[in-house]
Amino acid sequence: MRQRVFGILLTALFACVTALPAFGWGQKGHRIIAQIAYDHLTCKARKAVDKTLGRKGAIYWSNWPDEIKSDTIYPDSYDWHFQDFDGGLSDSVVADALVHYPSEGGNLFRALDSLTAVLKAGKGDAHTLRFVIHLSGDRYCPMHTAHLDDKGGNLVKMKWFREETRLHTVWDTHLIESQGYSYSEFAEKLENEYKNHKRAILAMSEEELLLHNYHFTEAIYAYQQTWDGNTYHYIYRWHIPMEEQLYIARVKE
Ligand SMILES: [Zn+2]
Repeated sequence: MRQRVFGILLTALFACVTALPAFGWGQKGHRIIAQIAYDHLTCKARKAVDKTLGRKGAIYWSNWPDEIKSDTIYPDSYDWHFQDFDGGLSDSVVADALVHYPSEGGNLFRALDSLTAVLKAGKGDAHTLRFVIHLSGDRYCPMHTAHLDDKGGNLVKMKWFREETRLHTVWDTHLIESQGYSYSEFAEKLENEYKNHKRAILAMSEEELLLHNYHFTEAIYAYQQTWDGNTYHYIYRWHIPMEEQLYIARVKE
């Protein structure tokens, strides 16, 4: 089982639209996911990852793909971070996105598959590895498989306490920050609380996980329609499902 955790890294290392923000999990979320994955690497794999990215570089570089959006180094990478969908789709239509990448709404699945293939072929470098670590987290961020017509929740305005914000930002950042942990504290908490769920998560197919994500996001949108605007109610309803989603992101490669 440990070999499946962060299996992309192991395989690789053994062989070796819009001006709106779309940052996936915020900095803390990506670090939490990377920290837990790093903690579960075998000693041999950890050494190999450290050799490629620097000691604990898997964590420290986990936000790099977001940081370079303002650079020209990978000009086509903007839409690698999300794959939005229409709401109300059937499971079969959603699942088809894993095989026939949608022509609109982002390029997350295609980018992740193609970068992973590069790593598996032993042709990846540190940049490839950083992208795979980061995009593997984005894939399980609810607002990165959200609705096309509101640009992944970016057009859904709401208030977080007294601050004007957007649904997308709530899930990138605010909900995680509401728990008051540092990334390392949060990672340790999730490792302790969810370790008994690891086997069940690993047993889920890619299709099952995508459908889980899609229905999770649909539930967020449904809640939005009835939400009373009370931020405390929002946190109470969603902070535990959010934590589960962070844990799933670290387990499945
Ligand atoms: Zn991202």
